[in-house]
Amino acid sequence: LSSDKFSTITIREWLESERQSNNIQDSFWKILAVGALNTSIEKASAKIFVDVLKQIFLRGNKSATIILPKYGLSASYCNNAEEFIHKNGGVIKTSEAVEKIIISENKVIGLESIKNNYSDFDFVVSAIPPFSLARTIGIEDISQIPDFKYSSILNIHLWLDSNNLPEGFFGFINSPLHWIFNKGSHLNIVISDADELVNKQDDELFEIVKNEMKKFFNLNQESITRYKIIKEKRATFIPSIDVIADRPSQKNTIKNLILAGDWVDTGLPSTIESAVKSGRIAADLIS
Ligand SMILES: Cc1cc2nc3c(=O)[nH]c(=O)nc-3n(C[C@H](O)[C@H](O)[C@H](O)COP(=O)(O)OP(=O)(O)OC[C@H]3O[C@@H](n4cnc5c(N)ncnc54)[C@H](O)[C@@H]3O)c2cc1C
Repeated sequence: LSSDKFSTITIREWLESERQSNNIQDSFWKILAVGALNTSIEKASAKIFVDVLKQIFLRGNKSATIILPKYGLSASYCNNAEEFIHKNGGVIKTSEAVEKIIISENKVIGLESIKNNYSDFDFVVSAIPPFSLARTIGIEDISQIPDFKYSSILNIHLWLDSNNLPEGFFGFINSPLHWIFNKGSHLNIVISDADELVNKQDDELFEIVKNEMKKFFNLNQESITRYKIIKEKRATFIPSIDVIADRPSQKNTIKNLILAGDWVDTGLPSTIESAVKSGRIAADLIS
C-alpha cells in the first residue's frame, strides 16, 4: 500500500476504483472512515485514510483493539501530565489567552496575554488551533497556516429509567446515528460528520434520535427521562486533498517558534493522537 498514489484522490474515488459495492462502502468503509476522519468519504483524501488503515491493521492485533476508557478525558490524559509538569518545576497558567506573538527578525521576542507579557524564554511552542494562531501572529510572519474547513460532531446524551440495550458499545449501519456508548442509565450517542444536522433545533434532533432508537432497539420514548445535545461546529478539520498537502511542518522560518497541535503535519487526522504526536515531536525538536 504505497500511499503516494492516493494523495490526489478521495476515499470514494479509491473505493470505486477498487470496485467496492455500495453495500460494502456503507456497512464497512464509511463506518471506519467517518469514525476516524469525521468527514465524508467524498471529501476526505484517500491518502490519510490509507495511512490510518495501515496504523490500525498492519501493526499487530493490539493496534486494532477497541478500548473503552474507564475514565473521562481529564483523568485519562490531563491529570498525570499536570502532575508531571508541576513535579518538574513547570507552571501551568489557565484562563490566560495569548493575544499577540511578537516577532522580530525571524524570532519570537515576546508574548502578550490578557494578563501578562513574557519575554524570558528560549523557545515558544504554540499548541493553539490554526484560527487562533492566525489572530495572534501576523499572517505575513507565518505563511503556512492552511485554509482549513471544519466538520461538526453532535453528542446526544439520553438519561433512561430503564435500559434494554444489551452491550456497552454499538455502531450503526445506515442510520444518521453513528455510535452509542451505553453507561446504564445514561447513553451517549455520537453523530460524526454532522454538518447536515448541526443547524437543526434540539427538539427536531431529539425526534430523529427517538425514532432511530425505537427502530434499532425498540426503546420507548417514555423511558427517556431527560436529554442534552452538545453541538461542536468546528470539531475537526476536514482532511481534504488540498489541505493534507498544506499542513505545516513544526519548524518554520521563525527560529524559536515550534508549532504543535493536531493540525500540523503529523500524517494523522484531526485527533488526540495527532496532537500528542505533535507534542512529542516538539519536545524532540527542543532537546
Ligand atoms: C465533540 C468532539 C469529539 C471528538 N472526538 C474525538 C475522538 O473520539 N478521538 C480523537 O482522537 N479526537 C476526537 N476529537 C478531536 C480532538 O478533540 C482534537 O483533535 C484534539 O483535541 C486536538 O488537540 P489540540 O491540542 O491540537 O487542540 P485543542 O484540543 O483544540 O486545544 C487547543 C487549546 O488552545 C486553547 N487556545 C485557543 N486559543 C488560545 C489563545 N489565544 N491563547 C491560549 N490558549 C488558546 C484552547 O482553549 C484549547 O484549550 C473530538 C473533537 C470534538 C470537538
